[in-house]
Amino acid sequence: MGYAEVSVNSPIAQRRTFSYTIPSGLTIDVGQAVWVPFGDKTLQGIVLELNDYPSVEGTREIAGIIDPHPVLSTAQVKLAHWLSEYYLSFLFEAVALMLPPGFERKTVTFISALSTTQESDRSSLTQEQRDVLGLVQRQGKISLRELERKLGSGQARLIMSQLVSQRLVVKNYELEPVKVRPKKMPHLKLAVMADEARQEAASLREKRAIRQAALLDFLAWQSELVPLSKVRQSVGSSASVLKALVGKGLVSLEQVVVRRDPLACQSITTSYPLTLTIAQRSALGSIKASLLKPADTLPYVFLLHGVTGSGKTEIYLQALAEVVKQGRRGIVLVPEIALTPQTIERFVSRFPGRVAVLHSKLSLGERYDEWHRIRDGEFDVVIGSRSAIFAPQPELGLIVIDEEHEWTYKQHDKSPRYHARDVAVKLAELSGAVVILGSATPDVETFHHTQRGNYQLLQLTERVTPSEGSSLPKVEVVDLRDELKAGNRSIFSRSLSQAITKAVRSGEQVILFLNRRGAATFVQCRHCGFVLRCKRCEVALTYHWAEGTLLCHQCNYRVPVPQNCPRCRSQRIKFLGIGTQKLEQEASHDFPQARLLRWDSDVTGGKYSHQEILNRFRAHQADILIGTQMIAKGLDLPQVTLVGVVIADTGLNLPDFRAGERTFQLLCQVAGRAGRGILGGKVIIQTYNPEHYSIQAAANYDYTDFYDREINYRRQLRNPPFSQLACLTYSHTNDAVCQREAERVKRLLIQEIDSRGIADLSLIGPAPAFVRRLRGRFRWQIILRGSEPSALLSELPIPQGWAVDIDPVGL
Ligand code: ADP
Ligand code: ZN
Ligand code: ZN
Repeated sequence: MGYAEVSVNSPIAQRRTFSYTIPSGLTIDVGQAVWVPFGDKTLQGIVLELNDYPSVEGTREIAGIIDPHPVLSTAQVKLAHWLSEYYLSFLFEAVALMLPPGFERKTVTFISALSTTQESDRSSLTQEQRDVLGLVQRQGKISLRELERKLGSGQARLIMSQLVSQRLVVKNYELEPVKVRPKKMPHLKLAVMADEARQEAASLREKRAIRQAALLDFLAWQSELVPLSKVRQSVGSSASVLKALVGKGLVSLEQVVVRRDPLACQSITTSYPLTLTIAQRSALGSIKASLLKPADTLPYVFLLHGVTGSGKTEIYLQALAEVVKQGRRGIVLVPEIALTPQTIERFVSRFPGRVAVLHSKLSLGERYDEWHRIRDGEFDVVIGSRSAIFAPQPELGLIVIDEEHEWTYKQHDKSPRYHARDVAVKLAELSGAVVILGSATPDVETFHHTQRGNYQLLQLTERVTPSEGSSLPKVEVVDLRDELKAGNRSIFSRSLSQAITKAVRSGEQVILFLNRRGAATFVQCRHCGFVLRCKRCEVALTYHWAEGTLLCHQCNYRVPVPQNCPRCRSQRIKFLGIGTQKLEQEASHDFPQARLLRWDSDVTGGKYSHQEILNRFRAHQADILIGTQMIAKGLDLPQVTLVGVVIADTGLNLPDFRAGERTFQLLCQVAGRAGRGILGGKVIIQTYNPEHYSIQAAANYDYTDFYDREINYRRQLRNPPFSQLACLTYSHTNDAVCQREAERVKRLLIQEIDSRGIADLSLIGPAPAFVRRLRGRFRWQIILRGSEPSALLSELPIPQGWAVDIDPVGL
């Protein structure tokens, strides 16, 4: 094979590879990182294919090898192709997901002076050109980036090209410096035999060189290299002592690669497999059977549906143990927020020393070391948040995704906008692994797969109850409209208020939950609960302070805020929900005897503050914990006997077809926080929509009821899984420019749809995105809905400035 197809690290490469000749004498493998000439630069590339023939005439030669080991496995090479095709991302962006941390090095443009420049050449230059030339000549060279900082991007580029064309300077490229390397630490060892060292030590002692003698004696007893830091601790030798001994040729100093270990400071106790309940045994049995299947059959995907505390994690652990027994390995994904010491410990203690942890708080050095050790097969289990799916885990046998319904598995802020769950299923297909998706409230689309026979459903219907009485807590739904009618103006209903007082008085703990996302964005009548919705799209209209208007974020319909409620004529129409701070104020007013603790993203900026807040609450230093979504996740707090959901409906009014699903999931999770201990528990949900199916189903812990209703709505409205969505977003600092561009692309798309005669594709919008302005830029979006919008989009050049999101979540 004389030719390689290479994915090149340049935005110009887009979704394609380039052909290069393999120079004779160079052995190149698929997945290998190489240097390639590209235009007038030398860039990084990854070999994705080897061929006997090039795909074009006149190929250039690969310039060199970056790393002798392939950095991508063959399954990952295929996965990269799939990612780029499915999510319409640049090929190298997909490849880059799987590269070692810190591997990517961009090229930096420099201009440097030509030594032949003569004084007379400058006469025709402008002052600014002369300044830049002077600067370049003084410094020898200057990066374009630095010049841009001084002059602004446009001017810097203009002057550069003027000076280059007059041959006063030359442009050249350098790679960014290497960002991360293996970490080396100085180590000591004897340069002579131990006996000889002891004799030397004795004679040194006679000469009163006590400290040199002590160090020699110490080293004479060590069988391996000793880190210098440890020597300092043990014998306290100074630099001069060391220098003396090295000078005499008795001791040598070496740099040794050490591992940056994120788990280094955790003490680990080994845990052993529990005896499974009947339901657990049956579920694990099905999983084990699939692990024995021949590798060429379809990927096995299991949905493990079980309420919190039903023992799902124990099944993951035992399934992983089975995979390890077979000589294979696993990847476990958990939502970032659930990647707490508690969770990690459960895995680490079952596989001591065999677990790698990947999360966003690791330093680049730690990530670099973990990546290399994973690739070398040093870990049975890799656990991490969404990007851990791209870990170079060899002989992959099992992928576990806990809380599979979580939205954080979708990368939405940069390309490729992948969903880790869908990537996992694809990777399993490519590598012969089995997938377990676990959840108490499965994603409606995942559950639909089980109904169609694509995935196998495993259910755990009961909590593993170590003590009697800790079954699921009772749920009471309170209609907030009745409270106002009864003259209660507090945000706490009479029922919730009494329950809080009682719990606090008995020394128990309370969680108050507020779904802040969506609060303060819609307008609701406080009297009858009516919410203004778009007549065309059915989604709640979003309130915009500045204009005093209500806006539909799907179709751009606008109306002024009415003075009276269209349903009950009440004037109390402008009720905009509350935030956690306000809730804290009201709670301290209504329950002066209770100690409060607030937990939301405003409070928890730092690395450990989550844990600190949690520890304080667990140590019962507060009676009431007030928080948002964050407190819904996986906390086990046995002293909590009451959970109050202050307003359940805020999430229902988001302009998103998944609003009902989201609300159901959140309420179930929040309810699961109560009654985890022997004291039992109670949940009170306050709402203006007590009859809404999401709230009803959550109150009864009835997933099937929820699913049946939800899937019917999805079918009627042709939303996923009965269609696919693609969301196109354009952003610009000027709102009007943004809107014009969105209108233009809409017309373009309609033309394409018509001329190709695609019947099955509808176009929604353009409209301002729900998050209308982000980092100073306005955002408008168009949604395509149909059986395969990506088929059309993949054939069109996506205009500059547009971001494409296939299967968006949280519109
Ligand atoms: P989930 O992951 O579904 O929330 P867990 O696996 O965390 O459930 O189990 C909840 C609790 O029950 C944990 O404390 C766990 O140790 C315990 N547990 C799980 N399975 C068993 C079992 N078979 N026997 C005894 N205790 C169990
Ligand atoms: Zn009303
Ligand atoms: Zn609308």
